[in-house]
Amino acid sequence: MGLLLTIIFGLLGAAVGSFLNVCIDRLPAGKSLVYPPSFCESCQRRISPTELIPVFSYLWLRGRCRHCGARIPLRVFLVELAAALVFILLFWYYGLSAHFGVTVFYFCLFIVLGVIDLEHRLILNKIVYPTTIVVLLIDAFLSSFGIISGLIGMAIGFIFLLIPVIATRGRGMGFGDVKLAGLIGLVTGFPLLIVALFIGVILGGLVAIFLLVLRIKKRKEAIPFGPFLALGTMATLVWGNALLDWYLGLL
Ligand SMILES: [Zn+2]
Repeated sequence: MGLLLTIIFGLLGAAVGSFLNVCIDRLPAGKSLVYPPSFCESCQRRISPTELIPVFSYLWLRGRCRHCGARIPLRVFLVELAAALVFILLFWYYGLSAHFGVTVFYFCLFIVLGVIDLEHRLILNKIVYPTTIVVLLIDAFLSSFGIISGLIGMAIGFIFLLIPVIATRGRGMGFGDVKLAGLIGLVTGFPLLIVALFIGVILGGLVAIFLLVLRIKKRKEAIPFGPFLALGTMATLVWGNALLDWYLGLL
């Protein structure tokens, strides 16, 4: 039973991952998610059903289009693999439950937001606004902390990032990051929002230092902050309470 469900959720996760790739490819360009069906960006050939099998098709095609040999971005494979792992690991962690469903939804959301920000430096309103409504409903009916905690988290997240954005007049971080932090507060509630922001800031700082030291990035080039906030949120969704208890135990 457990093994069968693990395989089913792994395959489902990979299929969802392939849809997340469609979102990542098309939403920033303002294209439809459902039409046209997937095609090669290079030779425009439609991708056949067997080539659409997530994870495995990338491996046996060795990351290239079967017709023209154009490279398929490694990200396509990584997002499919990540989604499959997210489904399997969260199923093992939470079992079949509403909490499992909600957490999977949040991981998928933050994968899409994080990767789009990484590739385009954009936090899209057309993702943030509708999901805010969905998260409000989840807070009200399915969360352990309730809607008040969610709204407090949202307000604090918003203010926490609004101050540096105004102070630096939008250099580095932008208003998209402010909205993202608000959404994160709504997702995690208060006080876990603080944990999510803290992990995001630490991760972002470490990577920035690493890139500067290795001279991969120049000092002037800003690194998008959204992917780190997204990672911080995902970590907080699973370990937030444990991390907070541990930290408060130190005081
Ligand atoms: Zn092609």
